[in-house]
This record gives sequence, structure tokens and C-alpha cells, in this order.
Amino acid sequence: MNPNSEHAHPEPALDSYTRDLLEALGDDESSSRNNPADEARGQVEQLLTQAMGNDFTTPIVNLFTFLLRQKQEHACSPTAFGIDRATLERLALKHQEIDEHMVSLGGRLTQALPIAAEANERVDAYLQDQEEIAPSGIETWDTILENQERIKKKLSISDDEWNSFQGQIRNAIDSIDTLAELIDLPSSAIESIARVTQTYRMRLTPYYTSLIMAANSNDPIMLQAIPTGEMIDNAGIEIPPVAADHSPARLIDQFYPRVVTIKATNMCAMYCTHCLRLAHIGRKDQIYSRDAYTEALNYIRANDRIRDVLVTGGDAFVLPNSMLEWLLDELDGIDHVKVKRLGTRVPVTVPMRVDDELLDIIEKSNDRKPIRVVTQINTAQEITPVSRDTFRRISKRCFTILNQAVLLKGINDSRVKMWKLCETIQEAYVRPYYIFNCSYRNPQFKHFRVPIEVGRDIVESMYGNISGDAIPRYIATAGGKIPLHRSNVVSSDNNTYVLKKPWNNQEASYPDADPALYDDQKLSFAHYDK
Ligand SMILES: *Cc1c(COP(=O)(O)O)cnc(C)c1O
Ligand code: SF4
Repeated sequence: MNPNSEHAHPEPALDSYTRDLLEALGDDESSSRNNPADEARGQVEQLLTQAMGNDFTTPIVNLFTFLLRQKQEHACSPTAFGIDRATLERLALKHQEIDEHMVSLGGRLTQALPIAAEANERVDAYLQDQEEIAPSGIETWDTILENQERIKKKLSISDDEWNSFQGQIRNAIDSIDTLAELIDLPSSAIESIARVTQTYRMRLTPYYTSLIMAANSNDPIMLQAIPTGEMIDNAGIEIPPVAADHSPARLIDQFYPRVVTIKATNMCAMYCTHCLRLAHIGRKDQIYSRDAYTEALNYIRANDRIRDVLVTGGDAFVLPNSMLEWLLDELDGIDHVKVKRLGTRVPVTVPMRVDDELLDIIEKSNDRKPIRVVTQINTAQEITPVSRDTFRRISKRCFTILNQAVLLKGINDSRVKMWKLCETIQEAYVRPYYIFNCSYRNPQFKHFRVPIEVGRDIVESMYGNISGDAIPRYIATAGGKIPLHRSNVVSSDNNTYVLKKPWNNQEASYPDADPALYDDQKLSFAHYDK
């Protein structure tokens, strides 16, 4: 329902679109002289019978579409087919009477259908290319299963181990030697990875490794998970220290008065080559002491402006269930904390971690105060039947699941790849929330950076072409999240704006609210004195 829709006139009458249509079909000197081909005559006869014979709108539209084409292409008017103007008018009115919203025949045929056809063209190239350019892990599942069998055999992983979090972590690939056994890499790449992994951490779960498509030499899973020589070439071997300017208390990061993060662990199941928290990750996995958590919680307790707390890391889901339960209990016990978030990539890197006990903990806390699970998925390739099912199960236990993607060169920096990502995650119960322009802060991954303008083109191209709630906000991280969207206001004059439709660059005139009325102190009911 469109709350702004106008009420149609209850008595059907020919509108101007339909009158124009009838005019276009009418006899003129050239057309009345032309006799139609036998085949066309037979078709019109059939279409006419169908249009008169039942109470559907489509046969009427089909008849008029055919007649219009006959007129335009062969100069044959309806009279040449033995159809008079009165019959045409009767059918046009019938169309309007059948239609629940009294849409006129002319409106549908000459306006709505061509507009829809033009809109279809905007997505046809995407629909044609998406499966080849940006296949989802659901579409490549057969290959992933073959990869899994190969990896299990090579690393002697049993099915039980494969299906358990501990088994995945125990068998995680953290050396170039193991990696080279599983993936065919050029020797120069092996050398470079060996050099980089002396400084930068690498860890891929066997599951995440199985998503790598060997045929693609720049596979987006490899690019995200396997550090390459550029990291050192860009920044040397010293990892710059953590920026201290946003940490007012132990484990706490704070940009905003009402939202803070607790970095509850430095662990992740997989280490991203574009990680903003690179400096936190360190050489060793750490879950912190109760003292550290207590100080962080005390900071939150003492600041009653804080209403939203993000438990992140690293990855919140690598915390043991008991620890996560305790943290959530503590947060739920603070009156001014109203909502919570859990930051995790586990559902795409090691979905086996999401056990029923964890889901119960999430649901129990979500029943007290809403929990949003915030994840990071950068390509459709990361959504497999397994990760999709994991998100489905999580989505039943929490308020919502949000995705924060990072715009990365070669990984998702095109329309097709980003549209496919946003649509695929939405189909997997995850809402696109942010697209981050890859940050300048860590020089290690400047080879992944994409110009702001390229991201704007991509995000803007989504408007009108994919569901509105699958369109993320485009953000620069610079001491807080700064929106990067392009303005669609072209100009304004006389209290009327000229707006640009992002999907076809057409302009729309949009009168603003009347400022005098807005300044009027009285709102509706205030006019009626008691
Ligand atoms: C991302 C982030 C937030 C949350 O920002 P939202 O716009 O509310 O999603 C808060 N604090 C820090 C330190 C962050 O990095
Ligand atoms: S999951 Fe997040 S914190 Fe962990 S390595 Fe990736 S980007 Fe960094």
C-alpha cells in the first residue's frame, strides 16, 4: 500500500492516456488503405475473442499491443481488421473496471509497461553475469565439497573433527608448508608468503580454505586470508602500534557518547589480510583476565550515557560460551545499557562453532535486551549452504544480523560483485549494514584500497535496482564512521528541489514542506480549544 496514492475516480471514464492511445490507433489516410496480412487477421480475431470472452486484463492489453504494432509497423488500423471505435472504447473501459485500482488501459500500455521494460534493462546485464563473475558458495557448493574431501584426506581430518570448532582450530592452516600442500601456488608466491608470515599472522580454518576456487588465481578468499608480500613492501615488518586515542579505559574503544566497544579477545578463527585491528591481533591468542573485563564493565557502569555495547575482538564468538554468557549477564544487569551487539566472522569462517548452547545464551540475553549480531562478509562466495543455515539459526535467536563489508580491490569492487553480495547475504538472513571504504590507517593493506568515488558509483547503482533494505550505507572510518554517500539534490529554487533518480539520472521535481506552515505553532489538535 502506498499511503500517498491518490484515490481513483469511482466512475470509469477514458483517461487522457487511453484517449491518446485510441487516437494513435485511429484511421488516417495512409492506414485505412492498407489491408492486413491473413496471418495478422487471424491473430486479431483470436485476441479479440479472448479480450471479450473473459474478465482478465491481460488479453485486452495483448489485443491493443498487437493492434498498436500493426498500426505502427504496417499502417493497418483496427477498422482494417473490422474493429470499430466503439468496440475499442468498450474494451478500454472494461479493462479499467476489472482492475482493482482502476488502472486505465492507456496508462498501463503506454506508460507502465514501457517504464517496466526500461527498468528491466538496468538489471539484465547483472542477472546475466552474476553467477559467472560473483558465484555464491551455494552455487559452487559441489566444488567446495570436492575441496573438503581433498583437504580432509591431505590433513587426515576425520568427519567428526571437521564438524567441530575445536577440530577446525586444531587443524587450522597457519604455515606456508601446509598451505602449499592444499593449494597450487607459484613458487614465487610461496616465497613471499613465507617471508610475510614471519611477521603477519596467517590462519585459515580448513572449512574456510575449502571455499577457495583453485581456478581463480586471484581468488577472493585467498586475497582475504593469505598475507602477501605487499604487506611488508607497503609498511615494512614493524606493525604500527594500536592507536591509543580512542581507548578511554581498559579493553574499551569509544568514538561516541552512547556506543562503546569491548575488545573482549584478540582471537579470530581466521585472520584477515585487511584487518583494521591488525595491531591487536598479536602473535598469541588471548582471552583476557576477569580483572580486565571488570574494569571495562566498570567504565560502562559509571557512564550512564552509554546505551549500546559492542562485544568484539577479535571475534566475540571465539570466546568460550561461559565467558560470553557471563559478559552478557553483566551487561544486561546495567540499567542504562539497553541494547548489545556481538561482532563475529565465525559464521563464515568456522560455522561449526555456533552450537545450541551458544544460541541459547544469545536468546536468553536477547529476551532481556535486544542483541544484534554484526558480521563481516565481503563476497557472495562466503555464503554456503552451511553458513546460510548458521545465519538462519542465529537469526531466530536474536534481534537481527547486520553485515559490515569492506570495499576491497579485486574482491568486491564492482557493481556485479557488490549487488550479488548484498542480495546473497539478504537471502541468508543477514542485512547489509555498512560498506567501509578500506582505511588508510594501516599501510599494510593499501594495495586493497579502492577510491571513494568508485565505491560511490557502486552503492549509488543499487538504488532502485535491489531491495532498499539490501542497500548498505557507505562509510569512511576516521575516528568514527563518516557517511560517504553522494547527494541526490541537484538544485533548489522557490522551495522546490530538483532531485536526481540514482537509477537513471532522470530529474524529479520535489516541492518542500511549506516553511510558513512548519513555523505555525499550532498542530492539528491544538486548533480545537478545550
Ligand atoms: C563501529 C563502531 C561503533 C558503532 O558504530 P555504529 O555506527 O553505531 O554502528 C562504535 N564504536 C566503535 C569504536 C566502532 O568502531
Ligand atoms: S575477523 Fe575482524 S578482527 Fe578478526 S582478523 Fe578479520 S577483520 Fe580483523
